[in-house]
Amino acid sequence: MRWDERQREMLAAMGVRVFGLPAAEAPPPVTAPARAAAPPQALAAGTPGARADIATLDWPALRAAVAGCRACGLCESRTQTVFGVGNERARLMIVGEAPGENEDLQGEPFVGQAGKLLDNMLRAIGLTRADDTPERQVFIANTLKCRPPRNRNPDPAETAMCAPFLERQIELVQPRLLLAMGRFAAQSLLRTDEPIGKLRGRVHRWRGIPVVVTYHPAYLLRSLAEKARAWDDLCLAASNLEQPP
Ligand code: URA
Repeated sequence: MRWDERQREMLAAMGVRVFGLPAAEAPPPVTAPARAAAPPQALAAGTPGARADIATLDWPALRAAVAGCRACGLCESRTQTVFGVGNERARLMIVGEAPGENEDLQGEPFVGQAGKLLDNMLRAIGLTRADDTPERQVFIANTLKCRPPRNRNPDPAETAMCAPFLERQIELVQPRLLLAMGRFAAQSLLRTDEPIGKLRGRVHRWRGIPVVVTYHPAYLLRSLAEKARAWDDLCLAASNLEQPP
């Protein structure tokens, strides 16, 4: 098989060695947004009416609602909420799991080691989180907007409370494709218990929007063997993005 430049860069970025492969460039520095200001008014904690209202919010109101959310216990331990970052009209929207320690401190998703790998993966398919057109700049959001203490797994009640925020983000972005990274994001978005090995490799739908599932970058950092599969998933995502809507 002949590797073209983009494939070489992709594999190098993901740490897969191919003979003669140039070293991957360092990813561009990620700038942290200013810490979110206190919202004008917080949504009433967890009431069904308040959660349903989320589906009607515009971007500023949604940002304020996330920043002021006290619907579950995660609000007690967070430093700040992590809304998401990127182009509000992005063609590709990435869905991760939940903020970790760095994200909780900086207020931006995927800023730790896993984020660096994600940036490299994006760069290899010509995409970026930095300011750019909706064709090139992605939108990145997490399933949970607050860090679970000690990075424990999200629990079902937290997921249920937070889901309307992600759903509204997707509705507002209207991406051409969703890329769910990791078991938690994939299972909660697709409302399934199927393992990631069964979910990846095909195109699912979320309210009509195509969804590709792949491994979480943090898992890829630990499991070199799965990087080649993640590469296949990215190719599947990239080819879907190129198809007419
Ligand atoms: N892992 C995620 O799923 N999201 C982040 O923002 C950081 C790590």
